Amino acid sequence: MNDQPYTVGPFSGPRYSYNAKRCGAGETPCAICGKAITDIDKAQTVCVVDGGDSWGDVDSDPYDAGYMGLHFVGPELPSEASEALMVRVTNQAEIEELRDRGALFVLNHSGGKDSQTMTILVRKLVPDRQILVIHAVLEGVVWEGDIEQIEATTEGLPLILAHPVKTFFEMVERRQRWPSPQQRQCTSDLKRGPIEREIRRYLKQHPEYRGLVVNCMGMRAEESPGRAKLDTLKYSKRNSKAGREWYDWLPIHKLMTAEVFETIRAAGQTPHWVYAAGMTRLSCCFCIMASRGDLRCAAGLKQDLYRRYVETEKRIGHTVNMTGRGLEDVTGIPVDNGKAVTDGKEEKLEGT
Ligand code: SF4
Repeated sequence: MNDQPYTVGPFSGPRYSYNAKRCGAGETPCAICGKAITDIDKAQTVCVVDGGDSWGDVDSDPYDAGYMGLHFVGPELPSEASEALMVRVTNQAEIEELRDRGALFVLNHSGGKDSQTMTILVRKLVPDRQILVIHAVLEGVVWEGDIEQIEATTEGLPLILAHPVKTFFEMVERRQRWPSPQQRQCTSDLKRGPIEREIRRYLKQHPEYRGLVVNCMGMRAEESPGRAKLDTLKYSKRNSKAGREWYDWLPIHKLMTAEVFETIRAAGQTPHWVYAAGMTRLSCCFCIMASRGDLRCAAGLKQDLYRRYVETEKRIGHTVNMTGRGLEDVTGIPVDNGKAVTDGKEEKLEGT
């Protein structure tokens, strides 16, 4: 691989979206010139730490992984890219032992690229009869097509939808505060709690697993320093009760972003539509930990929801962003003019 440093423009937002839209099926835009790469195996990959956005660098925002990772460069450049994109699932020996003991493997699936890649790789190790897919339903704050994407890419596996007892906005209104990265009630109350409840229920209904469960999640070290420190396989004392033996496993913890997309491509699948629309992550549309680039992109794609977030911020006197800057300030997009200023040009936002 060429080790010369490159100066690379932003990957997310309107420019990425514009380049991605020009690509056909199975193509991805070159990170440098934006041209469609038709043969990804012949492309090179570059490691990018900061995609050029002055707001979202690693030091100022450790949660902004949006610009970090490997990105494809090509198509003219010769490459050993496929060698660099080796599958690197964690803890394979321990997992094979748990599989052979008959454990149930539960795939926590958001509909995003990491869950999709995790599913592809876990299915290579574990037979389908030992796999269950669970999706936490966060009504009104996530992207259209999440469940359809999961159904389309997990064919043959049972799927359970875990519904929380309250919605995201009910939680915010009740507390008159947004969740924060330190106190993520959104994750604990709306995702983890309902998913664990469904796993317990499923184990009760399926005694053949004898309470042995491996809870699989798609977190990756590359995403943030906090995630990099996570144990990739951990016995859960909290959940190992009432005859259950429960492990939490992060199968794709070592994978880089380009490896994730490559795994999906190699499996003949496509990722959720939001990536081609310019988002670097599929999460809540306006995740409390989103990068500025993703927030700007989401503001264009989900104008009504963006307006709801901004109006709620003003009414409760508390901002989504922990620095105290309102969403309009962070994105530079006021809710009432329906237009965004990007790359020095005024651009009409796309509707939902
Ligand atoms: S995606 Fe972000 S906002 Fe949504 S539940 Fe997770 S941390 Fe909270």
